[in-house]
Amino acid sequence: MATNEVTLSTYKFYMNGEWKESQSGQTIDIMSPYLYETIGKVQAITKEEVDDAIWSAHDAQKEWAKTSLQQRASYLNKWADELVSRQEEIADTIMREVGKSYKDANNEVLRTADFIRYTIEEALHMHGESMRGDSFPGGSKSKVAIVERIPIGVVLAISPFNYPVNLAAAKIAPALMAGNAVIFKPATQGAISGTKMIEALDEAGLPKGLVALVTGKGSVIGDYLVEHKGMNMISFTGGTNTGVQLAKKATMIPLVLELGGKDPGIVCEDADLKEAAKQIVSGAFSYSGQRCTAIKRVLVHEKVADELVGLVKEEVEKLTVGSPEEGSMIVPLIDNRSADFIQILIADALGKGAEVVIGNKREHNLIYPTLLDHVTEDMRVAWEEPFGPVLPIIRVSSEDEAVQIANASEYGLQASIFTKDVNRAFRISGKLEVGSVQINGRTERGPDHFPFIGIKGSGMGVQGIRKSIESMTREKVTVLNLAE
Ligand code: NAP
Repeated sequence: MATNEVTLSTYKFYMNGEWKESQSGQTIDIMSPYLYETIGKVQAITKEEVDDAIWSAHDAQKEWAKTSLQQRASYLNKWADELVSRQEEIADTIMREVGKSYKDANNEVLRTADFIRYTIEEALHMHGESMRGDSFPGGSKSKVAIVERIPIGVVLAISPFNYPVNLAAAKIAPALMAGNAVIFKPATQGAISGTKMIEALDEAGLPKGLVALVTGKGSVIGDYLVEHKGMNMISFTGGTNTGVQLAKKATMIPLVLELGGKDPGIVCEDADLKEAAKQIVSGAFSYSGQRCTAIKRVLVHEKVADELVGLVKEEVEKLTVGSPEEGSMIVPLIDNRSADFIQILIADALGKGAEVVIGNKREHNLIYPTLLDHVTEDMRVAWEEPFGPVLPIIRVSSEDEAVQIANASEYGLQASIFTKDVNRAFRISGKLEVGSVQINGRTERGPDHFPFIGIKGSGMGVQGIRKSIESMTREKVTVLNLAE
């Protein structure tokens, strides 16, 4: 393997099959959110280097599109194997870079290898279709349409910090199996983990130029990448503001956007409250709530609200708080700015009459799990995505009120409904403006072959292994006009 370390902890970017230092001479320090020290530096690459990476990707893609699915599968299987063999190193990097517990980081690496393998299998079993003209009035049987899926070209994959390996591979693997080249722009906080993942891919011996790792701040190179004439499709996961700006700039190319959320956990009066409390706490507080599909508000029927709040509090008291190295569930947030934002939301709610059930304590960027009761619709925390360990409880007097508040959100990712009545669950589910509804379970992404959908401010298009492959291909029709 071409080694990637310039000094102990300065990482190169990757293009045309080579690890390089940027001509800019600039690097970006990556600070660990809990060690409070620089754990490495990544290259801040130039626009000219972006251009080179994109045009090399185009050249490589033309040859890659000619390869058989079995050939592509063999490269990607090696990638998955390589990730597993470097599992400890990559998990350790994820832990130190984004402050996720070692166990979760390790699971992320294994889940990614599984994701790649499933993507291979799915792609191997996808087929086109054919149709005859005579099913349309006046059409002729002598016309036969062959509908195939063909690659789209060069895919720009932009990932967020919170799953720096899994959410990146969830774009790269389907793009490659579909016959595309990839320009991968990791979140800057997450770029070292992304680099380690690409080192594993490099080890698989992929053709030169097919995948490029471009590092640099989104605020500096993001627009240039998005507006680049060489991009044929963008798959983006990140915040809603970033995604909306990106969508305005990317013209006439397909986009898949996975954005923020404000997933409600709706607790009906007949719910199994003990189980609901467990699901809500695990949904809301895992990885300090830094998950797009975290439960970000509870809408509970007033008749059972007191009991539910008591049970949720009991579960919150069991959460471990501290360092990711100790396996804590509540860990320091990605940066101080995120912790400041949560404090603003809490202060706003308290100023307007919300009550702290537990929490509201901060040490640097570590926010203790915080439960706010009697949250009302005039409070920011009822609507805004905190991306941290604060959970607002909103008491409602009816099913309709719960649905109305759930749907008044700018977001539409997922929702949970807790009830023992399946008819009620379906009735509520049918009214909710979200991509997925979980009945008696926490909101979550996965298993990864399920369709994953965000509507309204939560996104555009569909992810999920098969859907991702489809989104990274386009249909092409060849019509045979047979002699009668
Ligand atoms: P973010 O700040 O929006 O960043 C996401 C990515 O966009 C990063 O790679 C970032 O690069 C890049 N970026 C920034 N400005 C850009 C620009 N002008 N053009 C192109 N790219 C640009 O989000 P985050 O803080 O990493 O992640 C948290 C957010 O992601 C939350 O809102 C969460 O809900 C959402 N999320 C959604 C899903 C989902 O599946 N729906 C999954 C996970 C996370 P830099 O890091 O260099 O700025």
